[in-house]
Amino acid sequence: MKRQRVVILGSTGSIGRSALEVLAPMREEYNVVGLAGGSRWERLAAQAMEYHPEVLAMTDATAGKRLATEMGRRFRVLTGHDAMYQLVDLCDFDCVIVGVVGSIVLPATVRAVERGKRLAIANKECMVVAGSILAPLATETGAEIIPVDSEHSAVFQAMHAGRTCDVRRVILTASGGPFRTWSREQMSAATLEDALRHPTWQMGPKITIDSATMMNKALEIVEARWLFGLAHDQIDVVVHPESIVHSMVEFYDGSVMAQLGTPDMRTPIQYALTYPARLKCPSARLDLTAARTLHFEAPDAERFPALRLGHLVAERGGTAGAVVNAANESAVQLFRDGLIRFSEIVPSVEGVLERHEFVGEPGLEDLMRADAWAREEVLRCTAC
Ligand code: MG
Repeated sequence: MKRQRVVILGSTGSIGRSALEVLAPMREEYNVVGLAGGSRWERLAAQAMEYHPEVLAMTDATAGKRLATEMGRRFRVLTGHDAMYQLVDLCDFDCVIVGVVGSIVLPATVRAVERGKRLAIANKECMVVAGSILAPLATETGAEIIPVDSEHSAVFQAMHAGRTCDVRRVILTASGGPFRTWSREQMSAATLEDALRHPTWQMGPKITIDSATMMNKALEIVEARWLFGLAHDQIDVVVHPESIVHSMVEFYDGSVMAQLGTPDMRTPIQYALTYPARLKCPSARLDLTAARTLHFEAPDAERFPALRLGHLVAERGGTAGAVVNAANESAVQLFRDGLIRFSEIVPSVEGVLERHEFVGEPGLEDLMRADAWAREEVLRCTAC
């Protein structure tokens, strides 16, 4: 196999750093040719010194300037809000790891799909917002969209046990987050610190809060709908607090295929890079005798109304995904800033979805407009 050229969008974040750990022992097979980050220029500079990519990109203009001053003589440095797009557009690469949180990376992702590359996609917003555009575009260009999100990676792997047309349903597992056993009253008084205490996964703050509201699972329902071409009622959620069974696929003959492993993002990151090969990975191996008991329970729709929202969005398609994703990003930020309570996050997103003017078959422009409108709408409603 020729040495694969890899670009990492979001290399300074949690996914990006795990990706570099996975790639470090595979330098003979994989060459890191591009690294992109948001504003942590010192960390990006240190990564560049270690991995010697050809191009660096930094979306924050001020941080980008610092990076260019320090590293500009040795590396090509792209800066500004479209730096990631430029990197994906001009760089010669085989695979891009999309590890950036949020819809900010959507233009770069669309470009990678247009170019027919392999995308190891950890970002869920792109599929949630623009799955209706990305999925058919990938079929057209031959781009491979391989999910890194642990649940979708599990589904992707389990799907290989049968034909897509024989899938009855997909069962996404959910850890239940830090508030799995909390009452409604306790949840409405939850602090930022409470919401950031995830029981099994070490992740960035936005996605950890999304796990607490279970909006994360709602977005994953939508993500699964587009990644695997499913109807919304073919996607179920089961709470599994140990996060050992990463998800399952049930076929029409009644067989349920599951993928298991320790909760470690390095496994799905590596699989997306090496698929269909399975190589040694730095993640810890699963010891089922140590885990002993695995629990499964139905999610509580009363305490976690986000799940209903996820099904609604997967059913409607169109601009609904863009609106819910953007409204949620905005509401989570307000919660992090102490401006709304934890229990106000999901209702505020629901309200925005109800008020928005739905477009059934949107273009990228419509999606961006719906995204911007939803963000403003959350702020407007909080102010009044
Ligand atoms: Mg996940």
